Amino acid sequence: MTDDGMIGLKQYINQYDRFLVVGHIDPDGDCISSLLSLAYGLRRIQKKVIPAIDSPRPAIFERFQPISQIHFSSDIDLDDFDAIITVDSSTADRMGKYERFIGKKQNFVIDHHVTNLKWGDLNWLDVEASSAAEMIYRFLKDLGIEYDPVLATVNLLGIQTDTGFFKYSNTSWYVMEIAAELIKKGADTSYNASMVLENNRVEEFYLLAEMAKKIQLTLDGTLIYSYITLEMLDKTGCTYEDAAGLIGELRSIKGVETAILFTQMGQEEIKVSFRSKKWFDCAKLAIDYGGGGHQRASGCTLYQTMEEAIQQVVETASCQMKREKQ
Ligand code: AMP
Ligand code: MN
Ligand code: MN
Repeated sequence: MTDDGMIGLKQYINQYDRFLVVGHIDPDGDCISSLLSLAYGLRRIQKKVIPAIDSPRPAIFERFQPISQIHFSSDIDLDDFDAIITVDSSTADRMGKYERFIGKKQNFVIDHHVTNLKWGDLNWLDVEASSAAEMIYRFLKDLGIEYDPVLATVNLLGIQTDTGFFKYSNTSWYVMEIAAELIKKGADTSYNASMVLENNRVEEFYLLAEMAKKIQLTLDGTLIYSYITLEMLDKTGCTYEDAAGLIGELRSIKGVETAILFTQMGQEEIKVSFRSKKWFDCAKLAIDYGGGGHQRASGCTLYQTMEEAIQQVVETASCQMKREKQ
């Protein structure tokens, strides 16, 4: 499965010595996994790597030891690296403040989002890949990097989280084979699963209860939506990070095809998450609002009030669902 993008990446790596490797803001498991795996791999071949994400360290990965290598929201000097590699990011603004380096140093983008328009100076885009972590695995294998249990565990994390622990439609035999290879090399699957799935704060359940009270079902129960306000976060002792898993709960409901969750980040800043089960194209919907993602999971941020955001987005989603269903 060697493709042009991977060959380009190899040449790029040979060309430079010091890399700034950037993940996306509000990092998820795939972002952290692909960033760290690439950093480990490149250091094995004597490259200097600064892994960076312009967000605070997510609480859920607090005890994940390898994460201490990542620079979170740090100031980085242009003189400290020769070239950039960006992972798991469909648009430039996902780099946060490191976007300012674009045009000053070359940027190679490794990504698997269908909404990515190849915005890097150089790109390896594989929309068939389950995760950016899968792409990094293929790349490191091709380079001949030997996996130890730490690298195997780190690399497996992104494959686990982006496939919903091997439940989503991006779970192929090929993904399972890679997972099996990583487990053979000593990846600790249950450590990762327990960290992500059995590490909830009780406050998240209070938030779930509040969010559940606001649920609305339309289109014969095929479209579900709900919202979380700053007040609800405050009342339950949560931050917006604690809301990350709740969209999955909405999608899990019987008869639902599309789920939408609105989370208030600021007075007029609403993060919108979209999920679908079988046929609705969430990526297209997110793009209409300046966001991105995948067909079954996407998101965007709107700068308006909660009422305006809900009214507009639900209307658009309903129209698109009716049209696509025909
Ligand atoms: P989330 O609902 O935040 O878990 O995001 C679901 C998917 O949508 C992920 O693959 C994200 O990469 C993508 N996504 C979320 N928000 C944005 C955004 N503002 N711009 C581009 N992609 C996004
Ligand atoms: Mn991601
Ligand atoms: Mn991903």
